[in-house]
Amino acid sequence: MRETLRKVFGFHEFRPNQEPIVEAIMAGRDVFAVMPTGGGKSLCYQLPARMTGRTAVVISPLISLMKDQVDAARANGLRAAFLNSSLSAAEKGRVYGQLRSGRLELLYLAPERLNLGGFLESLAGMPISLFAVDEAHCVSEWGHDFRPDYLSLSAIKKAFPQVPLAAFTATATLQVQADVLGRLGLADPLVVRASFDRPNFFIEVRPKDSAEDQALDFIRERPGQAGIVYRTSRKSVEHTAFFLERHGVAVRPYHAGLPDDERKANQEAFRKDQVDVVVATIAFGMGIDKPNVRFVVHADLPRSIEGYYQEIGRAGRDGEPAHCLLFFGGGDVPKLRHFIDEIEDEKVRRAAARRLARMVEYAESRVCRRKSLLDYFGEKYWEPNCHAAADPQAGGGCDVCRAEASGVAVPQVDATVDAQKLLSAMARTDQRFGAKHVIDIVVGAKTERILELGHGQLKTYGVGREHSREHWRRVLDEMLARRVVVREGDEYPVLKMTALGAEVLRGKCPFTMDALPEPAEPAAARESARGKGRKKAAKKPAVSPPGPMRAENGPLFERLRALRLKLAEEQGVPPYVIFHNRALQEMAERRPTTLAEMAEINGVGEAKLDAYGKLFADEIEAFLGER
Ligand code: ADP
Ligand code: ZN
Repeated sequence: MRETLRKVFGFHEFRPNQEPIVEAIMAGRDVFAVMPTGGGKSLCYQLPARMTGRTAVVISPLISLMKDQVDAARANGLRAAFLNSSLSAAEKGRVYGQLRSGRLELLYLAPERLNLGGFLESLAGMPISLFAVDEAHCVSEWGHDFRPDYLSLSAIKKAFPQVPLAAFTATATLQVQADVLGRLGLADPLVVRASFDRPNFFIEVRPKDSAEDQALDFIRERPGQAGIVYRTSRKSVEHTAFFLERHGVAVRPYHAGLPDDERKANQEAFRKDQVDVVVATIAFGMGIDKPNVRFVVHADLPRSIEGYYQEIGRAGRDGEPAHCLLFFGGGDVPKLRHFIDEIEDEKVRRAAARRLARMVEYAESRVCRRKSLLDYFGEKYWEPNCHAAADPQAGGGCDVCRAEASGVAVPQVDATVDAQKLLSAMARTDQRFGAKHVIDIVVGAKTERILELGHGQLKTYGVGREHSREHWRRVLDEMLARRVVVREGDEYPVLKMTALGAEVLRGKCPFTMDALPEPAEPAAARESARGKGRKKAAKKPAVSPPGPMRAENGPLFERLRALRLKLAEEQGVPPYVIFHNRALQEMAERRPTTLAEMAEINGVGEAKLDAYGKLFADEIEAFLGER
């Protein structure tokens, strides 16, 4: 196995979890693996594909991605092909011929092909070593990305009980995992849940004020870096792309409403590093395999944490520092609720509302972002501070931990009595009401609802008159963020007390929160985020962004990059199919000038050594000679 790893892929070590997965597949066992984007899933089936000498059938949802996958596999010398609707009958015939003869190592298919009558049966006589299912979460209706076509995959295990089936995904809660295992009918599989943590991510939420200005400021601080700006609607995508372009950013829009060729051209321009930024709806991404995306900005609130995590997952696949920035303003929530209200199926609607509520909770929370996200996927993060824990080279961390680590954390004040007032109002109304009503009670508002329900008679009615609604709103937000209370219910969420909340109410546990802010400090910005003020002051974060990313642009690196670009253009493939930045960096550092030295570079397997080794070694030689 290690020999193949080295010779074919040019890697010296397995990444975490790759080895046990490959071993299981080689032993004929089913696998279910949740591994983060960039974790190295494809190697898990490509390596067995080479070793068994028969064909691995790979089910992958996106036709647009297949050609790149096949190109990348071929660049490593693997005999790979794909079958999808973009091929002519003659081309399909050729692929079938290769398959029958046992010469193919990898066959990529779209799931809809399995639905074609008799297709699965036609594979019966073929030399198939394994089935690999990519993006396996698409098979679950519980997930955020269900694809009806994927249901047909349950037929695989029935038709080929003896052939190992390995399912891979980068996003699955435990519930989705259970569902996928059942639907695919995996028999006693090896289940791997790799850590979801992406240590090279800096994860940040900033109050949204004017998303476009804010995005522009952010992008200007990162000249030449590749990044994605996500927006909810096609209209806002167009608008923001135009706005950025007007301000000198090399940018293209991407959404499902653009003409096919224009959409493709825009994606290509981004993929090939011809523009820096793409402004896109969530339609953009699945087909993007670009390793050097340095930032992902969400200018609007995503609908779910799964979606959000998958979108930011497109950043930093090369392991270099990447910045994930979400602009959050309360104003986004009603818009998303409106979308959700229009969902007809009640079950689906409730699930969508629940996911949105969790997303809002995340954005408002003052808990470590990493901890919150990992917690959502059922993983425990043990480090007390993710910013302090991040290797400085890796560039990771989060806004919450950074503030804490740099000592600029807002001072804390005791707010136990305020919290008790809110909790008491909740308790006296049987925890059946939402935030607005609970605050109405505490401030003694005379709303119709209060009169109707007789809540003016409650002991807590008006006990918080001395403060504004904004004050109570803020206390409640902090209580939510610290999980003293939680929101429950989908369409009309009500506030419930947690065990911690009961302790606070009984005076067993103090409740502290950020001291009231000076003007233009984070909480003031948070108020404006709710649409109360539109002051420019909110635009600057209280803490300055992390320092510049690790520099990689030595003159030799740039030369190698130029050579790579030239070769990529000649061959019509994206540059990373030739070599990843990582490999180029290593070359620039170690300066191999012979083929033997070149073979030592990570990512240079035999096929790439043959195809490009000499060209790159000569380039390095020439560079050294000129100095
Ligand atoms: P995923 O499909 O999980 O998102 P990929 O299979 O695309 O990830 O792999 C991500 C990157 O990691 C690729 O550039 C790949 O070449 C690289 N990679 C995979 N396995 C290894 C390894 N064992 N050592 C070094 N790099 C690896
Ligand atoms: Zn953190």
